[in-house]
Amino acid sequence: DHSTAPLTIVGTGMAGVGLARAIRSRDGERPITLIGADSGDEYTKPLLSSAFAKRQTAQSLVMRDAVGLAATLRARVRTHTTVDAIETDDHRLRIGAEVLPYGQLVLATGAAPWQPFEVASSLHGRIFQINDLDDYRRLRGVLDRHPGRQARIAIIGAGLVGCEFANDLHAGGHRIALIAPETTPLSRLLPPPLGRALGEAFAEAGILGYFERQVSALHDNGEGVTLVLDDGEALEADLVLVATGLRPRTALAEVAGLAVSPAGILTDRRLATSAPNVFALGDVACVDGLDAPAGGLSAMYVQPLQAAVKALAATLTGTPTEVAYGAWPVVVKTPLLPIVALPPREVPHHWRIEGEASDFSALAEDEGGRLLGFALTGRCVRRKVELARAAPPLLG
Ligand code: FAD
Repeated sequence: DHSTAPLTIVGTGMAGVGLARAIRSRDGERPITLIGADSGDEYTKPLLSSAFAKRQTAQSLVMRDAVGLAATLRARVRTHTTVDAIETDDHRLRIGAEVLPYGQLVLATGAAPWQPFEVASSLHGRIFQINDLDDYRRLRGVLDRHPGRQARIAIIGAGLVGCEFANDLHAGGHRIALIAPETTPLSRLLPPPLGRALGEAFAEAGILGYFERQVSALHDNGEGVTLVLDDGEALEADLVLVATGLRPRTALAEVAGLAVSPAGILTDRRLATSAPNVFALGDVACVDGLDAPAGGLSAMYVQPLQAAVKALAATLTGTPTEVAYGAWPVVVKTPLLPIVALPPREVPHHWRIEGEASDFSALAEDEGGRLLGFALTGRCVRRKVELARAAPPLLG
């Protein structure tokens, strides 16, 4: 009976910790082990890209450390521990030389930054990615020591993460250059007129945009980094932030023979993977084949994760439950131009765009005028609730 066997959760991000908490509230007795490769500090990842403006220290973002987490969850929490392999036939994990049996296993290993180029080791102290609290702590440390505390930061990639950090680091007093191969920022969420509005809002604030450009080389110039763009132009920066996308961490599952796709570990609506007693949720999971929608943003955000937490906690405590996702728009944290977007699941027949200045509503519609998704900027973001009600669910 697996309901009394130990439950092991790999990952101490919002998915792993959220699941442990939801299970504990339904079952006070079940032994739970949480294993994570990082410090196990509990924090809210979306806050990382609004924390520079507020000059928050990494420590102030910690809601609970691993010891506190273990106490409130009455769980075993193992930090700085990397799971090396899963042996599904024998229901056990490999951690170095250690063998750890599990009753049921949940993979909540998240997504890792993906970088399309190699970086010379001499540049390692100047090139950053921010995908967790430790990354934030490291960049904060460097910026706090920076002379005058105003750094020139080149951000590569103008997706959600790149744009949010551009706005936030700018608000934190730094000089920002934003470089991306697309014509406009946030091109996977916003049709061109809205993307242009964001680019203009950034430019007015003094953020330099280099669109339709690629970085062809990065050099150590002694005091910083020289970025050579594909048209030959050279930019000088103190630091570079790479925000070129995230990929689900599927390697562990893949090597163990679980079904995976580029969108994540494949699960059914009950978050069950292809291996018995192994489940997956959060950024690492691809639920019921829900691939990246036409807009390009997969379900790697908090609302789907929370719905999955709820459903899986019920399933693992004896009430098999399927997950469903609503029409949940993404709120982009760019105060220079507020943005809300619900990328359509399929390529729309057309976008119906209304508005002026920087206040736009863009409705993605099919041939018959049916709403498939939307994007809103500026004052139009207040249409969020009304439009979300009319849009189809992400996973109905
Ligand atoms: P993660 O937080 O990545 O956790 C993965 C865990 O797995 C970590 O503890 C890691 O140590 C562990 N791990 C990985 N491999 C192993 C291994 N082999 N052994 C042991 N442990 C392992 N979403 C929103 O909805 N709204 C927002 O405004 C928003 N803003 C964001 C801003 C930024 C800058 C970023 C990066 C993301 C943002 N998101 C936002 C997305 C949201 O934060 C993520 O969807 C969510 O945090 C994913 O949580 P997770 O637990 O699945 O993964």
